[in-house]
Amino acid sequence: MASARDYLPTRARLIEKGVQIGANCLWCNEEAETTTHVLLQCIKSRETWRNLGMQYNIDQVQLQNGNIEGIIFSILSNLSNNEKCTFAVNLWSLWRSRNVAVWDNQLDRTVDIIHRGSCLLTEWRIARNVEEQDLLYNHHRQGSSKWQRPPHNFIKCNVDASFSEHHNKVGIGICLRDEFGMLMGARTLWYQPVMTVAIGEVLRLLAAIDWVKELTFENVIFCEDSKEVADSLYSDERDATELGSILTRCRDDLSNFCNNSYVEFSRREANMVAHNLAKAAIYNADSHIYFDIPIVLIL
Ligand SMILES: [Zn+2]
Repeated sequence: MASARDYLPTRARLIEKGVQIGANCLWCNEEAETTTHVLLQCIKSRETWRNLGMQYNIDQVQLQNGNIEGIIFSILSNLSNNEKCTFAVNLWSLWRSRNVAVWDNQLDRTVDIIHRGSCLLTEWRIARNVEEQDLLYNHHRQGSSKWQRPPHNFIKCNVDASFSEHHNKVGIGICLRDEFGMLMGARTLWYQPVMTVAIGEVLRLLAAIDWVKELTFENVIFCEDSKEVADSLYSDERDATELGSILTRCRDDLSNFCNNSYVEFSRREANMVAHNLAKAAIYNADSHIYFDIPIVLIL
């Protein structure tokens, strides 16, 4: 978790690095913006923790003079597993709110901060639940391959779709990981009405390419678990159907916007996170994008 190692680019850290900016916290404009201040001490963060019923746990720990890593681990050590998750997602959400205040000039209310944290937690719990069921189901299956790291300087993009007749939706899950296997970001979205598997499988690839294009990432390997899609993308045959036109968009966007990137076939078993996100996407009201996902939720 970036905050635990004090990687967060707070104003105090930026000033240390020689960046010329004001030192004060954007929320209260009274104290210097350090990681401890933003996440735990500011009037805004204290209000968040108070509403979550966790202020007491924070008050038990000496915040002055300690480094943020020590402080966070002291707080975590006194929490139950459920409380640890709540604490982690709300640290993440507070930092997101600080960022939307800096970049989008948007002032989140405490209820927005807590809502964002609880959405992440709910979604991740659904994904974990699905994963446990799948693990049980797949327990005796032979030859399941593990997720493989991309080569040096490459990013791996796993994408999956989940088709629900009952909800009349197709859920899409996308995740991006670096060469060390660290999750760089994850996204869920859905389309309605439910469509054929053939169309859905190409649309999910297009959704992944679109997102990578938006993030302006290069050197991306898109893992596609449909051999048919992976093959037809690189085939010389062109068809005039809806499927063919989505494939053409994939091809064009890939070569025009995603420099040095390509699509490769990979088995479903190597794609559990995207698979679970796709299932979770069906239950969401809207599309979600996550960066800096708290490590507690991934372990
Ligand atoms: Zn403040």
